[in-house]
Amino acid sequence: MVRIYSCGPTVYRYAHVGNLRTFMLPDLLCRSLEYLGYRTEQVMNITDVGHLTDDTFDRGEDKMLVSARLEKKSPQEIAAAYTEAFLEDIGKVNIRPAAQYPRATAYVPRMVELIARLIESGHAYQVDGTVYYDIASFLGYGRLSGNTTDKLMAGARGEPDPRKRHPGDFTLWKSAGEHRLQAWQSPWGDGFPGWHIECSAMSMSIFGDRFDIHTGGADNVFPHHEAEIAQSEAIAGHRVVSLWMHGGLLMLSGSRMAKSAGNFFRITELEEQGFDPLAFRYLALQAKYRAPLNFSPEGLAGADRVLRQLRERVADWSHGDVDPDEIDESWDARFRATIGDDLDLPAAMALVSELVKSSVRPRTKASQLRAWDRVLGLDVGRAVPESELPDGAADLLRTRQKARAAKDFARSDQLREQLASLGLTVIDTPEGQRIKR
Ligand SMILES: [Zn+2]
Repeated sequence: MVRIYSCGPTVYRYAHVGNLRTFMLPDLLCRSLEYLGYRTEQVMNITDVGHLTDDTFDRGEDKMLVSARLEKKSPQEIAAAYTEAFLEDIGKVNIRPAAQYPRATAYVPRMVELIARLIESGHAYQVDGTVYYDIASFLGYGRLSGNTTDKLMAGARGEPDPRKRHPGDFTLWKSAGEHRLQAWQSPWGDGFPGWHIECSAMSMSIFGDRFDIHTGGADNVFPHHEAEIAQSEAIAGHRVVSLWMHGGLLMLSGSRMAKSAGNFFRITELEEQGFDPLAFRYLALQAKYRAPLNFSPEGLAGADRVLRQLRERVADWSHGDVDPDEIDESWDARFRATIGDDLDLPAAMALVSELVKSSVRPRTKASQLRAWDRVLGLDVGRAVPESELPDGAADLLRTRQKARAAKDFARSDQLREQLASLGLTVIDTPEGQRIKR
């Protein structure tokens, strides 16, 4: 059993496809581990409080409250609406749901308890109702990101908060001040938790003080995960996470996809433009998970075309029985080796192309590709959906099916020609008609 905690979305706006790429990492990880014979339990949090607009310097306003003001809704309504949209969006790219989606606001008492322990053990201090983590108290600070306390001191920018002992100290609990919309009682007065303590509290509440893998985006390495290590290890007294995995960012014309950069695409927008949402998944599989991925409409169109061709081939090749003697285990062994090599999905996709072009019998190819699709999640077995057929084609197909059932082969052949004039080839199989563009 592999237990995986993934940093999830802050539900103050829609997720863009760059976010979806980040959330695809734990999905590919779980699917791969299961293919290799492990069981998995994945937890992904939903951040619905405490994520400030400037999370590097620990300043600004809570993102939930900014959206609540702009949309004239309560923070709870904002969270509910964008959580629902998030779950719909991940479904479109075949990201399987996590076992649990803990919400930060449901764990505030646990966060207060952890912060109190950090103060007691000398890792945190309180000033005017706000509690800071004292990074100088944790020797391992900087281990994950390379941002050690010395470097942070030298690189401190902007106006340092005079209440902090070290400019790199981060907020565990923030005094509510004017922001009373989302505030909880605590020993330090009314306030709300910092973003980083949320993930320590949720991960350790659910998994205890040791678990296997923690995932997130490359932009979570610092400060979010560096802070989580400092918090969780100071409390547990030992390493809590065995392995950290971070997904590379999605780049558009060389810059990171972000709402602030104005280059923001939702998966539903790509779908409205006529792309199969899974074409985005296909595109994402072309890059190593840790590497940045360049996104372009041309690249997506190419992925869309190749994916449709692949499905047509699999449909074409899926007739008759597989002869067990002709299954060559070496193909699957190679696939297992690629996904087992730090999730090398580009190599796995290269193997897909190699198999497609190989002299392996078609029926065996189709069967192997369907098996690999348990990891790839591209719906390679999906037939051409009726909605994608040219106008009138679905009716012609139904009429032809009736004609064949009535053994009216002259009529059936005539309908075949009409379908051909629409650009569709009909193949009769024991399971019924199959169509090919
Ligand atoms: Zn997190």
